[in-house]
Amino acid sequence: MNCKVCKFGGSSLADAGQFKKVADIINAEEERRYVVASAPGKRDKNDIKVTDLLYDCYDKAANGEDFDEVLAKIKLRYDNIIKDLGLVDFELDEDFDKIKASFSNMAGRDYAASRGEYLNSKILAAYLGYDFIDAAKVIFFDDHGKYDWEKTREKLRPLLEATPKAVIPGFYGSMPNGTIRTFSRGGSDVTGSIVARAARATLYENWTDVSGFLIADPRVVKNSQPIKTITYTELRELAYMGASVLHEDAIFPVRSAGIPINIRNTNRPQDPGTTILSETAEPCEHIITGIAGKRGMSVINIEKDKMNSEIGFGRNVLRSLEKNDVSFEHIPSGIDTMSVVIQTDALTGKETAILDEIHSRVHPDQLYIESDLALITIVGRGMKSARGTAAILFTALAEARVNVKMIDQGSSELNIIIGVAEEDFDIAMRAIYDAFIKIER
Ligand code: ASP
Repeated sequence: MNCKVCKFGGSSLADAGQFKKVADIINAEEERRYVVASAPGKRDKNDIKVTDLLYDCYDKAANGEDFDEVLAKIKLRYDNIIKDLGLVDFELDEDFDKIKASFSNMAGRDYAASRGEYLNSKILAAYLGYDFIDAAKVIFFDDHGKYDWEKTREKLRPLLEATPKAVIPGFYGSMPNGTIRTFSRGGSDVTGSIVARAARATLYENWTDVSGFLIADPRVVKNSQPIKTITYTELRELAYMGASVLHEDAIFPVRSAGIPINIRNTNRPQDPGTTILSETAEPCEHIITGIAGKRGMSVINIEKDKMNSEIGFGRNVLRSLEKNDVSFEHIPSGIDTMSVVIQTDALTGKETAILDEIHSRVHPDQLYIESDLALITIVGRGMKSARGTAAILFTALAEARVNVKMIDQGSSELNIIIGVAEEDFDIAMRAIYDAFIKIER
């Protein structure tokens, strides 16, 4: 039978009303057999996620402070969900007694945080009538704290084969010595991906509170259209620029197994969302798949006659950054010029040291830093097969009277990155969006 793994994020499981929506989604398709759950998230803007309450509670315990009040607040959130769902003969009192004792015995911050998904998954399993599988028994890390796929597969795959329907808590697993370890924040996405791979799922559905990715940031481009399909590589490019809905490590387990990810909205299940596919996917309906950008960049400009024939020039420039512990983002270059784009935050306070170092290493004719730069990347597998992409891009920017300070196109033809003054950022984003999205393939 086909099998889908569905991960529900914290806002999708924040209260009983949301749980009911989740149950409707699961019950709508027989194939939705494995469910990965987050801890209860925010019910509104001012609410606090249970994960954050748990960290806070544990920190109090670790400092020898009284933590009863915070723990009672956490318990109340779960008790309300149980009551409002009308679950009878189900309670978490014993679990909370155990948690309290473990906090007093310093069971660890990761253990504390993991209880959010553990308890929520228990409730969801009871509500759906699914089995509950504790992630500590099936998701493993090695002695260095690195996630261990071999060991995980060995345990998880046969267990899933023997369990037709189950809820598995996201976010955590266990170390070789049995202690609990979590992924980084937002890590239930990673668990979902691991479970999908272990189950040999046909699809990994990641249910959240938005209907997938938008072509451009809606705070900059109003009414941006959604992205219907995107490849893993395109997603990496956009995520690098800050367009994030999914934990970045969630891509790898399913990608290697060729399992697509579908980002869906629990509050609007009728929306198709965005599907993340392998590289061979058909081009999408537009030349470009998405546009993303980053403010707060600086560029070190270096000019020197005959730079091109000086062996080791680039290495010496980059060595100057390395010595000052600064990483770079891009290096667009000309015959006698080289520019190094760096995040302004990383550069602040180190400008003089870096310039001095470059001076003494390569003796440039000109050397200066320009700040207040923004980068914009247009990403699209459709660009490879479309002629005139650059023409559309630069015409749009010229018509919007935006000066392009830097251009960088990778040889994969998957993206073009441009640098503009920060003050031109919004205008440039809108101009690019309008130019490309109006043109249908
Ligand atoms: N509950 C965890 C967090 O808030 C993990 C997750 O939701 O994915 O980061």
